[in-house]
Amino acid sequence: MTDLEHRYGHPVYPKREVEIVRGDGALLWDQDGGEYIDCAAGVGVANIGHANAAVAEAIGRQAKTLVTCPGIFYNDVRGQLMARLVSIAPPGLERVFLCNSGTEAIEAAIKFARLTTGRAGIVSAMRGFHGRTLGALSATFKYRDEFEPLLAGNRFVPFNNPDRLASSMDDDVAAVLLEIVQGEGGIRPADPEYIRAARELCDRHGAMLIVDEVQTGFGRTGRMFACEHTGVSPDIMTLAKAIAGGVPMGAVLTAGHIAPAIGKHGSTFGGNPLACSAALASIGYIESHGLIGKAEADGLYFASLLRDISSPRIREIRHLGLMIGMELKSKSRPVLDALLKRNVLALSGGPTVVRLLPPLVITREQIAAVARRIADALDETA
Ligand SMILES: *Cc1c(COP(=O)(O)O)cnc(C)c1O
Repeated sequence: MTDLEHRYGHPVYPKREVEIVRGDGALLWDQDGGEYIDCAAGVGVANIGHANAAVAEAIGRQAKTLVTCPGIFYNDVRGQLMARLVSIAPPGLERVFLCNSGTEAIEAAIKFARLTTGRAGIVSAMRGFHGRTLGALSATFKYRDEFEPLLAGNRFVPFNNPDRLASSMDDDVAAVLLEIVQGEGGIRPADPEYIRAARELCDRHGAMLIVDEVQTGFGRTGRMFACEHTGVSPDIMTLAKAIAGGVPMGAVLTAGHIAPAIGKHGSTFGGNPLACSAALASIGYIESHGLIGKAEADGLYFASLLRDISSPRIREIRHLGLMIGMELKSKSRPVLDALLKRNVLALSGGPTVVRLLPPLVITREQIAAVARRIADALDETA
């Protein structure tokens, strides 16, 4: 069946030779019944696991009740989700705008920062990733070639360097936009002091601090949101990926003083009851199954098993919770291919990093099996 996608799809993705047809928890199956341990989780989407029964039940129930309801009308589940998001968010984040993806959340965040400050400049980090639409791409370090001109006033600073951030700030800066752990950029955690310095610099210059938690949110790093590791509350936080158990959704949470007026933004699908109901079920599942503490403990376990692999090809293991990067001294792609042959699905994070984002429901036995297969894959491709 891969021939259909091959024939009719745009070839924008570097495809792997596997066709996934079914999932359960941290396991996936292909067309021929081949079983895989999933360390991609739909790129950090399936935190609560595949085919989660609680989310399936919520989607089914909501589909039979009400699927669509535009933002001009009030809706019961949308209101409940907004209240729920504010209740789990870092202090000071009080209002919610709902959209449908991570890049859209970034677009909204940029517009809200412009509206609030009357300025245009966005400072973001080298190796940072914020999405593919033109505004978000303007603040993204890679994937920009051939799309210039992008938004004016954007500038890039080296990550984790407070001095360079300080010298990039001026009175044209609307916002500083950062990930707490750079995901696409190779699993690079921010120093908490760096995020605290960014908070102070934004306050001093009247700029907004936007924290992009699209990949780090909803328990992934061993906290509900990764900025909790730093003690810093941003003015704006962007969410997507794991928010609704796999159903497309994005969200922007903002401090109370950020109040875009009627007509300044909107989205047809944003805040639809189907996605809201899935999000409520997913957040409920994360909390009732203790997945946040599990991500912290299992992240330590997984990283320790990887550190025990005595391969001269490993440069460094970096992780925060179950957001794990294994930086190699050579290209990661052959190792990813060797892992696929051993029925493990993993991601890259830049050319030399193997990125592991398993569903948070992954078992210890599955983690140990993945670590063994990684050791084998490193040997085979040596
Ligand atoms: C994936 C990602 C995005 C973009 O999300 P999409 O839903 O693919 O548009 C933005 N920021 C970060 C940090 C991401 O990991």
